[in-house]
Amino acid sequence: MKIYDLIGIGFGPSNIALAIALEEKKQIDHHVESFFIEKQPSFAWHANMMLDNAHMQVSFLKDLVTMRNPSSRFTFINYLHENNRLQDFINLKTFFPSRHEFNDYLTWAAAHFNHCCAYGEEVIEVLPEKLGDEIALLRVRSRDKSQVVHERVTRSLVISIGGQPRIPDCFSSLKKDARIFHSNNYLQEIKQHVSAKKIAVVGAGQSASEIFMDLHHRSKHTQVDLIMRARSIKPSDDSPFVNEIFNTDFTDYVFNSPEQKRTEILDEFWHTNYAAPDLVLIEQIFNVFYQQKVSGIERHRFLRRHEVRKAIAQPGGIQLILHDLNADNPRAETYDAVVLATGYHRDHYKSLLTPLAPYFRDLTVDRHYRLCSAPNFKPAVFLQGACESSHGLSDTLLSVTAVRTSEIAQALIQSLNHSKNMPAKRTMSTELV
Ligand SMILES: Cc1cc2nc3c(=O)[nH]c(=O)nc-3n(C[C@H](O)[C@H](O)[C@H](O)COP(=O)(O)OP(=O)(O)OC[C@H]3O[C@@H](n4cnc5c(N)ncnc54)[C@H](O)[C@@H]3O)c2cc1C
Repeated sequence: MKIYDLIGIGFGPSNIALAIALEEKKQIDHHVESFFIEKQPSFAWHANMMLDNAHMQVSFLKDLVTMRNPSSRFTFINYLHENNRLQDFINLKTFFPSRHEFNDYLTWAAAHFNHCCAYGEEVIEVLPEKLGDEIALLRVRSRDKSQVVHERVTRSLVISIGGQPRIPDCFSSLKKDARIFHSNNYLQEIKQHVSAKKIAVVGAGQSASEIFMDLHHRSKHTQVDLIMRARSIKPSDDSPFVNEIFNTDFTDYVFNSPEQKRTEILDEFWHTNYAAPDLVLIEQIFNVFYQQKVSGIERHRFLRRHEVRKAIAQPGGIQLILHDLNADNPRAETYDAVVLATGYHRDHYKSLLTPLAPYFRDLTVDRHYRLCSAPNFKPAVFLQGACESSHGLSDTLLSVTAVRTSEIAQALIQSLNHSKNMPAKRTMSTELV
């Protein structure tokens, strides 16, 4: 069986950026035979949140490469140039392209790597391949739509699988009820609810706000309740000094800080990224509620300081038992559909790695995002997007992607050189012993 130098799980922005970094390193004589496995049938970036009027929340200069190599052919600017839109884009006078356009840029970049990416296969587990006492290689098992299992063998691995929908506990027993769905599936699922009269949106972040506005425009006959524990919707702070936390050198600062300080930094700046929509969006929502006051017709409701305590599936709808945290009162409301804009968790990589658990003590990573492993475990395993607690808030975003992939590529090349030279050295030292 062919042995790859690297297999990448997922082909979102993180691994596309890595593929580019490796491609560019090839030009300086570092050849890494890499292959990527993506579960979607073709490239798509958060397809179910591709809402009209949604814009990037990061400058286009933080694309897949510019921060690492502004002269790369994979820059957003070169994409515009190749698509004959550079001048028109300049006239837009924005740093924040639409999400549709950025998805098109990512699709364009991904297409350069069709020869080394298998789409439509979901990686289900990663197994150790023993050679004597050592784990020298990894066997990556994936399943396609026809339930056929594929196996590939690699010297190293990078897991860049993004986030998995976070479903609050009170909804967990209703996961199969089609009337409740996560924002991750919004556009696909909302089609089934065109005649819904009353919809709840649970959450206080960018996705909850975007979905509220989308539902407001989608049908004049739908009532939408925006439900959140928070007292108000706070805007994301993207002012320049605060934004410095997304600079690449801040990663060093966070990583080198003692654990308690790291936690303090994450807490202090948590709102730059979570439960913090763009100010413009908040103003649009405020305006919707203001116009309701002007007309005297209450269509939507802003149920702030409300906590969902229980969800009950009934024939006529989903009943939510809400607790009004201000009045300390319970109330029941029934909805035709409930959208959970409740964020993502990022520890799914642990279940993919379950068969390797004995070789990773505590799943900590080094500065180059490599999981620290037992001495007899040779393959390098890197994580992208799951290192927020060690590397800072930029880890789940696009902010440091270009630079991070260069750091990973560097560590990967070192590790491959080391492992390819190892057998000879090991034989020598064994003989000496
Ligand atoms: C709606 C939305 C908008 C966002 N907008 C911004 C923004 O404007 N700016 C910003 O900086 N960040 C934004 N983000 C954050 C987002 O995490 C990053 O933009 C970016 O997508 C991270 O790239 P990634 O490749 O690490 O993860 P993802 O983009 O999530 O890609 C992971 C890929 O792995 C695949 N995958 C998962 N599991 C498996 C498996 N077992 N086998 C095979 N494939 C698998 C998935 O299908 C997916 O294609 C946004 C997030 C969302 C949800």
